[in-house]
Amino acid sequence: MVKLGKHLTKRIAKKPVAKKPKLTCTLDDITFNNCEKLKRYKKLKEHPYFQEVIDENTVRCMCNKEIKLDKTYHVHNLDNYSKNKWCKFTAQP
Ligand SMILES: [Zn+2]
Repeated sequence: MVKLGKHLTKRIAKKPVAKKPKLTCTLDDITFNNCEKLKRYKKLKEHPYFQEVIDENTVRCMCNKEIKLDKTYHVHNLDNYSKNKWCKFTAQP
């Protein structure tokens, strides 16, 4: 008879924490060190008030005002600003 008294030890291979390879994405000659930034950048560019990127934390609104962003390529501040009465640009419908 085969003794089944042995403790069944499940061999759970400890998964090594998969370190994501550093992905770099490029768009419009800008290199993003992660793709989240790229996504934000794309969203930023889709904003009707977006005119141009000055640097990764500053963009220009369609009214030529420089907008400081709270995060890299984060559309939030531009969006807020676009709703502000100080913004002289009105998006064409
Ligand atoms: Zn504006």
